[in-house]
Amino acid sequence: MQFDLVIKNVRLVRPNQESVDLTDIGIKDEKFALIDTDIPTTDAAQVIEGNNFLAFPGLVDTHMHVGIYSPLSEDAITESKAAAMGGVTSAVTYFRTGQYYLNKGGPYSEFYPEVLELSAGNYSVDYAYHLAPIASSHIDEMEMLLTEHGVCSFKIFMFYGGYGLHGKTDQAAQRDFLMAGEDDSYDIAHFEFIMRSAAKLIKKYPDMADQISVSLHCELADILNAYTKIVQQDDSLTGLRAYSAARPPHSEGLAIWIASYLANETDCLNINLLHLSSRKAVEAAITMQEVFPHINFKREVTIGHLLLDYDSPAACHAKVNPPIRSREDVEYLWQALLDGKLDWVVSDHACCSEELKTDNQDPKDDDNIWVSKSGFGGTEYLLSGLVSEGSKRGLSYNKMAELVCWNPAHRYGLNNKGDIAVGYDADLVLLDPDEDFTVKAEESESGQGYTPFEGMQLRGKVKTTILRGHTVYSNNEVIGNAKGQYIARPTPRP
Ligand SMILES: [Zn+2]
Repeated sequence: MQFDLVIKNVRLVRPNQESVDLTDIGIKDEKFALIDTDIPTTDAAQVIEGNNFLAFPGLVDTHMHVGIYSPLSEDAITESKAAAMGGVTSAVTYFRTGQYYLNKGGPYSEFYPEVLELSAGNYSVDYAYHLAPIASSHIDEMEMLLTEHGVCSFKIFMFYGGYGLHGKTDQAAQRDFLMAGEDDSYDIAHFEFIMRSAAKLIKKYPDMADQISVSLHCELADILNAYTKIVQQDDSLTGLRAYSAARPPHSEGLAIWIASYLANETDCLNINLLHLSSRKAVEAAITMQEVFPHINFKREVTIGHLLLDYDSPAACHAKVNPPIRSREDVEYLWQALLDGKLDWVVSDHACCSEELKTDNQDPKDDDNIWVSKSGFGGTEYLLSGLVSEGSKRGLSYNKMAELVCWNPAHRYGLNNKGDIAVGYDADLVLLDPDEDFTVKAEESESGQGYTPFEGMQLRGKVKTTILRGHTVYSNNEVIGNAKGQYIARPTPRP
């Protein structure tokens, strides 16, 4: 047989193209082997009828937090199934030492092999990790992580030095949270040294130079502490509106200016500004690009910040950092996407179960916003949400494929992913753009049990997800055993 699988009659959605054309797709040995009209089915071991559905490249969701609130080996099973449901075939997920995750500190030389062991055999999609140097000694381990484990992206959480994951906290509690050494300080100088180390790697490994990057969660503890105090003393704001005011957009903007200045100072040329949630954040990021044109900045937005505003009925279920913002901010983010100011869309998927989310308090009671935990899942709605809301605003399918496939894949070194072209991994998703559905958490594979998107009407349903030529999701079901493989980055280009 010439092909292991032939998919007939799909409308091919490729990034960096201007049109969507009807074609067939031939797959051999887990790679795309032929893209052509009228591939004879007699040449195929298996045939799938594509029904004129859209065929997007498998999504590359480069912002997830698998294993944050539940044991990694269990979370990987359920949350990667949720990813497969959403058409995601590559999960790049954040990990760090400290509280949550494996709930311990120590060197990455011991910690990371354990992460990989707990992951192996549990993912239904291909996976990789971004790592955060928390202790100063971790900075010296970045080269080892790159060369021995294929980790080429590192994260900085700018507010962790002085503000908690779920809200205001004292200095001692935050030290316990980070589980670093007595002499370690998680501060701006630490961020500078992470960037210096990345800059050194960029120079030392020219072949990988454009794919070694530092990502930042841009919010500042000083601003968050001050505004949380003000908002908590004033009862005119409650719920998501209060949470947004306690972590105001200018904290994001100011953090972006600081991060960008440091990037220039340290000659750290590849910077990813994560989950920009507001107009002020995007404007700051664009201004910094103009000030430092030699720095390759990438700007990220999440599907949560695109679908929800702070008047959402989801209330505490939608607590996340940075917060869900005003409708004006949401519409500004969509316009920024249309204008090409944002580079990719991710889920920031962090499965936070109902019991944990609100500590068994009523999630619809706005007063519980301060005790709720941060983060929620959403990888299963990443493509449907983008297609549904993006189509209304004039975003083309080709552009969508850049935002959820090509751009994140190629920034983060997944060079064999993100396109449907000969030689690439045969990852794709079939989507019916005309099928409407209502989001219901009970239909998700995720272990979360609720979703802040509950009840939303979306147009554009994922029908089938294919990972390296194997069907992993079809007919509303995840199929077969977990076939996901670890991706050591950067991978060779096809
Ligand atoms: Zn995140």
